[in-house]
Amino acid sequence: MTKLLVATHNQGKVVEFAEMLQDLAIEWLSLDDVGVSQDIEETGHTFRENSVLKARAYAAETGLLTLADDSGLEVDALNGAPGVYTARYGGVGLTAVQRYQKLLNDIKIVPEPKRTARFRCVIVLAAPDGTILGESEGVCEGRIARAPVGDNGFGYDPVFYLPQFNKTMAQLPAAQKHQISHRGRAVQAIVPRLRELLKA
Ligand code: IMP
Repeated sequence: MTKLLVATHNQGKVVEFAEMLQDLAIEWLSLDDVGVSQDIEETGHTFRENSVLKARAYAAETGLLTLADDSGLEVDALNGAPGVYTARYGGVGLTAVQRYQKLLNDIKIVPEPKRTARFRCVIVLAAPDGTILGESEGVCEGRIARAPVGDNGFGYDPVFYLPQFNKTMAQLPAAQKHQISHRGRAVQAIVPRLRELLKA
């Protein structure tokens, strides 16, 4: 059975992959499963650079095929910021609520039609020798709301409004979010490549 490391401490992400590729003989492992506790610093200037950095570093460290993802929010009124700095927006030590409050404040004078934004996620698959074996991207378009609504999800979900549902991301049940989210789409998009590589 091929071992595949998903570069995350989040068991939920690992389960998502495992469920989508049930028919393949893959042993899915998280960083915790393989005893890796040290996080790689995300010093890249793009989501892809960060994903490559993480996938290569963990693959080299563990000797396993490794999938890594990087994601964030691009707000058009801020020229695409916070982008790769989404997790650090507003500085160190802030809570998720403080970060999205800062965002709401930073664009408070921006009118509705110009509040467009997207979540983006890039996934990279690397081999222990550093070869990039596959990559994918997923995007989820929406708008930054005026105020937070909803309790599901995490991060910026309460302020990310999806016009097609007339709901924020935090109002969607998890399964529905996975179908349309940037991460869900990136995961779906790399599945054919994983099949191709691992079925042989
Ligand atoms: P990372 O890919 O784990 O580095 O995520 C970067 C940051 O983007 C996270 O800390 C969140 O603040 C934000 N983010 C990524 N995906 C989501 C999402 O699905 N909902 C809300 N926030 C997200």
